[in-house]
Amino acid sequence: MTSSELARYRDLLGDDGVEEHAALALAGAEFGVTLRPGDGAALAAVLAQLGASGRAALVRGGGSRVESGNALRGADVLLATDRLTGVLEFEAAEGVCLVAAGTTLDELRAIANAAGWEVPLDPPGARTTVGGTLAAAAIGPRALCHGLPRRAVLGLEVALASGERTRCGGRVVKNVTGFDMGKLYTGSFGALGVIESAWLRLHPLPQRRRCFEARVSDPEVALGSGLAASRRDAASVVAVRLPAPNAGAPTLCVEFAGDARGVDRDADWLCSEWRAEEAGVDLVDRVRELQTELPGEAGLRFRIAALPSRVPALHARLHAAGAETLAYPGLNVVYAGFRLPQREAEDAASAAFECAESAAAAAGGHAICERAPGWAKAGREMFGDVSAQAHLFAKLKQGFDPQGVLNPGLFAGGL
Ligand SMILES: Cc1cc2nc3c(=O)[nH]c(=O)nc-3n(C[C@H](O)[C@H](O)[C@H](O)COP(=O)(O)OP(=O)(O)OC[C@H]3O[C@@H](n4cnc5c(N)ncnc54)[C@H](O)[C@@H]3O)c2cc1C
Repeated sequence: MTSSELARYRDLLGDDGVEEHAALALAGAEFGVTLRPGDGAALAAVLAQLGASGRAALVRGGGSRVESGNALRGADVLLATDRLTGVLEFEAAEGVCLVAAGTTLDELRAIANAAGWEVPLDPPGARTTVGGTLAAAAIGPRALCHGLPRRAVLGLEVALASGERTRCGGRVVKNVTGFDMGKLYTGSFGALGVIESAWLRLHPLPQRRRCFEARVSDPEVALGSGLAASRRDAASVVAVRLPAPNAGAPTLCVEFAGDARGVDRDADWLCSEWRAEEAGVDLVDRVRELQTELPGEAGLRFRIAALPSRVPALHARLHAAGAETLAYPGLNVVYAGFRLPQREAEDAASAAFECAESAAAAAGGHAICERAPGWAKAGREMFGDVSAQAHLFAKLKQGFDPQGVLNPGLFAGGL
């Protein structure tokens, strides 16, 4: 970036909003400049300026998952949301709030919990932001009781690549007219616009939470018990940890939450049916960590959606290929981690992609590669087979960001 361009951004953002730093390698590109707009107007002005000068940006929230997706097709600056922070409105009686995109979930949680509300978003990561979570449609174990991130969104304020600021939905549950654009932006990985702020619907804090663990010798029985537990009224988290071959027995992890009587009733059922033992309240944190740690130091992690009846067969195929898995039976989601034997193990990476994608197809679902080293991304699609929707995605990208200012190449189909 030239010194006159940097001067222009300093005019727009002030000295605090432009940081020059040592080269930072991220998502297959190198960055020496981070732009930090302090409000929505500044964000929009930066986007307009980037477009006018033919530049592209990688949008960064907490940065915990900024390397997910396909390899970037070149970007010039990091566009950070860490100065777009704060709970802008909080309606304690209604359980709705307007929160700036760069606010961390931890900050929002502290404010909501103090007023008796729970934030229905629980992906891993202490620095995870509201904007990054919605852009990545990231889930955590409590998605079983909260639903997917789009369900929490009542409205969004989004700055488009053109520099136009837009708003969809709002504080009232039923004020969406026409297309529900909030649902489109949620999960679009910053390819269509930068989320400035979000109206979220909160959930009441449960009266009681209890956690349980059970060792189950057989994977199919463990997955069946997980599905049965997921259907209990108080089910808040149900995860089945299925270690790699010869690495131990499956573990069923359950959290029940809600009114005290309902929780205790379901706890009695679980203990008598599956000989589960009460676990510490940190069980859910451990499950959440496991979701991101798969497959350990180096390797590939896939998130696979499957029809509920086919999850045991899906697991059997993944297991036979040496994968370690974590299943959320009530969400029909299985995370599979494949360790790679050495750096640049191309054959092993190809075998893992082939296994995950064919097993997902046989299970009536879809595999997304959530984590892969840069070399393994080359020539591959991280979002699985998107050929049927590719032309629609391309038209959307063309309509929203024709110059490719935002996260170029990163989204499904290399958009
Ligand atoms: C070590 C670790 C690994 C993780 N791995 C995974 C994982 O593999 N899968 C998973 O589901 N969760 C994972 N998570 C959970 C992670 O918390 C979520 O993915 C969350 O979305 C990341 O939020 P963030 O603020 O860090 O976003 P970032 O990582 O900064 O960004 C995530 C994506 O959203 C875009 N983005 C960020 N902010 C905005 C915005 N305001 N508007 C538009 N686009 C934006 C970015 O360009 C990027 O594409 C991981 C967390 C940790 C700590």
